[in-house]
Amino acid sequence: MLGQMMNRPLLISMIARHALKWHGRREIVSITADQPRHRYTYAEAFARAKKLSNVLVKAGMGRGDRIATLAWNDFRHFEIYYGVSCAGFVCHTINPRLFEDQIVYIVNHAEDRWLFLDPAFVPLIEKVQERLKKVERYVVLTDDAHMPATTLPNAVSYEALIANESAQCEWPEFDENTASSLCYTSGTTGDPKGVMYSHRSTVLHSLGSALPDAEDLSNNDTVLAVVPMFHVNAWGLPYTGPMVGAKLVFPGPKMGDPEALCDLIENEGVNFAAAVPTVWQGMVAYLEKSGKRPGKLQRVLSGGSAVPVALMDQLRDKYGVEVMHAWGMTENSPIGSVCSFSPEANALPREQRDALRAKQGRCVFGVEMKIVDDNDDELPHDGKAFGALKIRGPWVASSYYKREDSTAFDANGWFGTGDVATIDPLGYMQITDRTKDVIKSGGEWISSIELENLAVSHPAVAQAAVISVAHPKWQERPLLIVVPKPNQSVTREELLSFYVGKVAKWWIPDDVVFVDKLPLTATGKLSKLQLRQQFKDYRLPESQ
Ligand code: ADP
Repeated sequence: MLGQMMNRPLLISMIARHALKWHGRREIVSITADQPRHRYTYAEAFARAKKLSNVLVKAGMGRGDRIATLAWNDFRHFEIYYGVSCAGFVCHTINPRLFEDQIVYIVNHAEDRWLFLDPAFVPLIEKVQERLKKVERYVVLTDDAHMPATTLPNAVSYEALIANESAQCEWPEFDENTASSLCYTSGTTGDPKGVMYSHRSTVLHSLGSALPDAEDLSNNDTVLAVVPMFHVNAWGLPYTGPMVGAKLVFPGPKMGDPEALCDLIENEGVNFAAAVPTVWQGMVAYLEKSGKRPGKLQRVLSGGSAVPVALMDQLRDKYGVEVMHAWGMTENSPIGSVCSFSPEANALPREQRDALRAKQGRCVFGVEMKIVDDNDDELPHDGKAFGALKIRGPWVASSYYKREDSTAFDANGWFGTGDVATIDPLGYMQITDRTKDVIKSGGEWISSIELENLAVSHPAVAQAAVISVAHPKWQERPLLIVVPKPNQSVTREELLSFYVGKVAKWWIPDDVVFVDKLPLTATGKLSKLQLRQQFKDYRLPESQ
């Protein structure tokens, strides 16, 4: 017997319709290249998104056609999210920090028909335009007055494109499993892999991530989305924001500028912000230097890589800002776990409670999670057993776009994340490594992330990376690579003895190298691949 409830499809247009009707006066504030502070309402945003839908329909786009963006976070990008997906097309966001060849590969692989790009990226695309096989039209995200001279064929400014279009548009209803947006993982090895989200996965992910023990978002929040809209849909905030009726603030090209971010936080009343840890590191350095305070900021969601506890302490103790440490990935839309406190965790002594924040937290409703050994047998939640982290759920990818060769999806319907983790008796998951970064010393695993976290808690250390290097007896041993803080000095011996009593003796790195900076990937994460290449011939003192 079936239930007798309405089978209304979960479509992104449902979020837009709700926001339009019930939160129409809430604001979206952006910095763009052509406007230092653009401000309008959800009602205006969705009216313009409808104009764009009409343009695309008239241009002959078909259901599922891919339309690409190469853009920072701002109101026009937001309109494209809705104008494209709600009309039944696929919004394909591209990371402009990728290498040229990767961008060419991605655009061709996705067979993008139109490309919307910020003026800043016009020179980049002009260089590769002849290799972009299927792109018919280039839309520059500005108005005619700011339109750069360009050799891109058939180029038009976004404002001119939608200017004379009607804002009357009934977004169509279709199967909720229809593709809505596409995002490629940065692909540190091999070609980037595309994750094709659906309307259903997007709506469910927004619901799940808004929950109190996840992002805890509501109509009363003002959300600053620093995490790029080309990086897993800004962790879903352009959907969750309108769903709950939060005010949205977009930093445009200023996402890496702590002064501009602080200005937005203060003047727009931002109380919630989301970004990778390096943004918070930059922010704290700016606050320390300028003596400013971060306005009404209360909570920051930080993920993408492990957040050092020292950084969380600084934000909380000095600035009253609580860091919500989260774990996720492109294949998971991305939110999987958030480090929120359960009653048992709240009852712990303060020191243990504080230490818990280094963990990536508890599973969000909607995601199932397990750690398994090499035989795919589930490991206990004892906080000690390391295993491959697997997930499944309605917002987890079931395959990669136009790629059948992936071994990450198992026969039982689980996705192997490529992360190695522990889960403790209170249910707190902790990433100890990427499978490819884990250090295997004499057959036992050493967590590079734990060693890095400890290193950055040393007062003289700005950044740290731990990689494996070959060892004749133990196969692999950890090497600590450190960027010292400016005007601070610290020795190899001091750093190595800093580990004593904090980790097992055999975990302590065999050597320390001091460098000026660490290599980063296109998404701003530490590139261990590059480091391993750089230090591939490194010989540890014992093995010389
Ligand atoms: P890419 O790094 O390829 O751009 P993602 O943004 O999808 O792709 O990255 C997902 C990976 O980032 C996860 O599998 C995990 O290794 C890492 N990651 C995400 N959040 C955290 C976190 N809070 N702590 C440690 N690692 C994290």
